[in-house]
Amino acid sequence: MKNGSTIYIFIGPPGSGKGTLAQECVRELDWVALSTGALCRQHISQQTEIGKQIDLIIKSGKLISDVLVTSMVDEWLSKQVGKVRGIILDGYPRTEQQVMLLFDLLHTKYPDVHLRVVKFDISDDIVVNRLSGRLMCQNKECQAVYSTVPGAGLAPKKVNVCDRCSGTLMSRVDDKPEVIRDRLIVYHQHDPSRLFEQMGQSVEIIDANKPFNEILSDFIQLIERA
Ligand SMILES: [Zn+2]
Repeated sequence: MKNGSTIYIFIGPPGSGKGTLAQECVRELDWVALSTGALCRQHISQQTEIGKQIDLIIKSGKLISDVLVTSMVDEWLSKQVGKVRGIILDGYPRTEQQVMLLFDLLHTKYPDVHLRVVKFDISDDIVVNRLSGRLMCQNKECQAVYSTVPGAGLAPKKVNVCDRCSGTLMSRVDDKPEVIRDRLIVYHQHDPSRLFEQMGQSVEIIDANKPFNEILSDFIQLIERA
């Protein structure tokens, strides 16, 4: 593969199906998806240079800087670019500075990588409805997400049992409607899609109000439109 990697930046609120879609792409298409949280934990447990810095910052109660997060993403990307066809960034870049730093990084270090920004558009009411019915597999290795909301197309085959690993399904404490509304306000405040457009990067829209199987087939169509 002649550096045929495409980086997909997923933008969307919790409950828009982007996390489930990312898992699906990893499983079915052999793509990779970045989780900055998991990557931080991995660096800390392996005591890497980045991990030691992160550990110190967390212990002192501070926030990890955009520069440090981006250097961690850079190190991760260097192992994926050119080897994997699809690379999903979900939850990064999160701030305006992260967007700038990532653009800089891609232009200088990965100029051949194709970048696509995909925004999952969904109404707040549907998010609240969906997340209140969300169930997550308690098996830490699995963490598959289901929904009991009719029409979401994400119900488990057996009540409260994970289809994939037979783990127990439970709802999350922060999936209460009032907590979800607060998270949506934060999401809308920090939605970076306008910033991408200002920088000349087109943003492709997926209608995430639809059931998951339609979101999936719309996304498959999107990736085929090179
Ligand atoms: Zn499971």
